[in-house]
Amino acid sequence: MHAPTWIAPLFQGLYCRELGDEWHSSVCNTEKWASAIWNIPDEDIWTAHQALKGLLISYVRRRTATKDAGTVETIHENEETATLFSPEVLTIGFARRVAEYKRWDLIFSDLPRLLKMVDDEERPVQFVFAGKAHPQDKVGKSVLQELLRINSDSNWQRRAVFIEDYDQEVARYLVRGVDVWMNVPRRPMEASGTSGMKAAMNGALNFSILDGWWIEGFNGKNGFAIGGLEASGTDEEIDRQDADALYTTLETEVIPAYYEFENGIRKRWISMMREAIGTLTPQFSTNRMVGDYLERIYKN
Ligand SMILES: *Cc1c(COP(=O)(O)O)cnc(C)c1O
Repeated sequence: MHAPTWIAPLFQGLYCRELGDEWHSSVCNTEKWASAIWNIPDEDIWTAHQALKGLLISYVRRRTATKDAGTVETIHENEETATLFSPEVLTIGFARRVAEYKRWDLIFSDLPRLLKMVDDEERPVQFVFAGKAHPQDKVGKSVLQELLRINSDSNWQRRAVFIEDYDQEVARYLVRGVDVWMNVPRRPMEASGTSGMKAAMNGALNFSILDGWWIEGFNGKNGFAIGGLEASGTDEEIDRQDADALYTTLETEVIPAYYEFENGIRKRWISMMREAIGTLTPQFSTNRMVGDYLERIYKN
């Protein structure tokens, strides 16, 4: 991932303060980079993150309020879009191209269990989904229907949105503004998963199946893994196991970590953000990739 393109200017400012204007030339210097990230105070990381989350929330409200948002109108027809979403609620982003292996419907496989998390009074969760509402995309359409169908006794319609026409603009708001980036591909279909790298470089924590890049990136401290390295059984059985792992990890790891405070600060969460930025940016930057091609292939 090309760091200067995808990292928000607010975070670039912090990297710049530690490493100078040429901060991106230090991206591949693993030790220098990590120690610079470790120097940034908790408050600065959190303030930058919350500002970007605020931009995402305004964007979500704008996109769901205007006519050109298309189908979104019907999802939120009973809701005041100006009050959608709260900056204090754990926000999970999930975006995908039209590709079945991304298993978009996994999160909906146990609705009561999902809504229990969304509706929790003390520790709620909100979701931003983005995708293409492609006429041929049956799963995409069924997700939209699912979003609609979920009844209004729940906070669901206030805490979940679907943004149509997933493109680089939508991606920019999402990867910079969410707390958590979710990816649930069917193993071993994920070649890479570049959106997760974009999110990580902006301090979002990945919450993903161990497939594609996340097998190499996850170190136990820089995000969350869903399920194990391998899965066995029929597709249906694997989907069931992975859905269960998805819910369990959310309930027992992601949510408790986000809502843990120490002296009013999310100490543990911020240190995970720092771990994500510090370890994943050097490993998955374009600089590292081009350098590898040069050293290992072109020069030989
Ligand atoms: C980054 C990006 C992708 C690729 O995401 P993957 O996680 O690699 O599937 C697709 N669409 C848009 C708009 C993107 O910004």
